Amino acid sequence: MNPRNRFSHVSPTTSEPHVVNAIIEIPKGRRSKFELDEETGLFKLDRYLYSSSHYPGDYGFLPNTLAEDGDDLDILVMVNEPTFTGCLIQARAVGLFRMRDRGVSDFKILGVPNTDPLFAEYRDLKDVPSHFLREVEHFFATYKQLEGAAIETDGWASSKEALAEVRASVARFCR
Ligand SMILES: [Mg+2]
Repeated sequence: MNPRNRFSHVSPTTSEPHVVNAIIEIPKGRRSKFELDEETGLFKLDRYLYSSSHYPGDYGFLPNTLAEDGDDLDILVMVNEPTFTGCLIQARAVGLFRMRDRGVSDFKILGVPNTDPLFAEYRDLKDVPSHFLREVEHFFATYKQLEGAAIETDGWASSKEALAEVRASVARFCR
């Protein structure tokens, strides 16, 4: 059995068109990279980031999707308070960060918790403080530098592009 099947009952999307289901692996502020282990279905400590930096939001994936890098589609959720590994967040997709890891597309959805009133006005990239977008870009551009991995960043795209990426990753998974 593929341990990922433990999430086979969790849809990547919800009844609200802009809202997706995110399963969190790494809470905001952590330098430890936790990830779902293919063999056991447990969340395991993959590594401690080589760079002295921490995740700028809660970070995880959309279950039952397949991104171009062969993993689930990644998501970074802006949070006022870190949640925890394994937490399900219904997140409103507000943008898409495009990057390539060792030549392979590795896009990140940017979301906000749909039920957090402090993010109620966040609908698209223009609603997100531009400094936060710069922080995220800088994080992903540098977090693997000391591992010698070549990351190329392609900047930000709209919530519309983010939802198109969700749909493409759902379709890829179902193929
Ligand atoms: Mg990925």
